[in-house]
Amino acid sequence: MKERIHEKFKALYGEGGRFFASAGRINLIGEHTDYNGGYVFPGAIDKGLMAEIKLNGSDKVRAFSLDYNEAAEFGLREEDAPAQAWARYIFGVCRETIKRGGKVEGFDTVFAGDVPLGAGLSSSAALESTFAFALNELFSNGIDKFELAKIGQSTEHNYCGVKCGIMDQFASIFGKKGSLIRLNCKTLEYKYFPFNPEGYKLVLVDSCVKHELASSAYNKRRESCENAAAAIRKNHPEVEFLSDAKRVWLEEVRAEIPEEDFLRAEYVIGEVQRVLDVCDALERGDYETVGEMMYQTHFGLSRLYEVSCEELDFLNKLARKMDVTGSRVMGGGFGGCTINLVKDELYKPFLDAVQKEFTAKFGHAPKIYDVVVSDGARELK
Ligand code: ADP
Ligand code: MG
Repeated sequence: MKERIHEKFKALYGEGGRFFASAGRINLIGEHTDYNGGYVFPGAIDKGLMAEIKLNGSDKVRAFSLDYNEAAEFGLREEDAPAQAWARYIFGVCRETIKRGGKVEGFDTVFAGDVPLGAGLSSSAALESTFAFALNELFSNGIDKFELAKIGQSTEHNYCGVKCGIMDQFASIFGKKGSLIRLNCKTLEYKYFPFNPEGYKLVLVDSCVKHELASSAYNKRRESCENAAAAIRKNHPEVEFLSDAKRVWLEEVRAEIPEEDFLRAEYVIGEVQRVLDVCDALERGDYETVGEMMYQTHFGLSRLYEVSCEELDFLNKLARKMDVTGSRVMGGGFGGCTINLVKDELYKPFLDAVQKEFTAKFGHAPKIYDVVVSDGARELK
């Protein structure tokens, strides 16, 4: 990829610039916990985005996307927003850097990526993080890493119309090879845990479906969680978010809240504990327990939180049937990928079965993405 980028860069802008890269991400466990003040547990992956960048001495940015084979040119003032969606990510990062007092001047760039777009691996965070990190280095702005992640998040909010949380940009900025990062979404404290599953592969199976319920259902789930938290708070004022509640505290209010809210809350409280259990297991190198927790999360998302769908349940059941170590839906639900922890010797038979049986049942093939937990934003020397 580096050669392709450099070739184009030379043709368009002449002499070489500096190379920066960042990554997409996975979340091993901790789903629908972010807005409940709980933990998420993401890591950067070996699929990402790379850019060659050089200052051009003007007040304009000239960018070329190799993947879209398209150029964009824009200024750095608020009214200079480019038309192309992909260029707005770069423009947004420039603007958000400037808003934080950082210096940004004109530059030339050619970039390309290998994170599948819109598959739930956050290609957009890879793009934002690459440029947020690069501008900080190129202009010696001294912005700290957490703020760089927020630059990416604010770019999504203010320039791309996506009201996302902080996890994707956090993972893509902070990601480290061989580590997952437990982020407390309430306090923003984080901690690295070792993730070196020797003898296993991490593989995503993309159902390639997206059911339309997603956004209205998401809002309903949030409401249920807030209702449950409010009921518990009456007895336990220290409960700010649902994730602060103990399981027994939820039991105390079971009769007061709709059964549906109870089930949603049961899932969230269980999920927060599972993240902690997975972290303990990783410190022991116990990947079998990690896998079992992934199945429990899938069960919770499917039966208690009810954000799975037929395709994802099918993939999960098939994984269980074939003795795959761990499998669950990853992301908000209603489509997208399952994330699977698979023993090396089961890898091929499992994926053969997935291809054959999923395609026979649903009439289209799933997509397969192997991932390895890798470094996030960095300069390539
Ligand atoms: P994802 O779940 O992959 O983050 P999004 O819809 O949030 O999906 O972001 C995808 C968008 O990000 C693309 O439509 C494009 O505008 C931009 N993008 C991501 N990767 C690239 C790339 N390699 N080249 C150009 N644009 C990209
Ligand atoms: Mg995105």
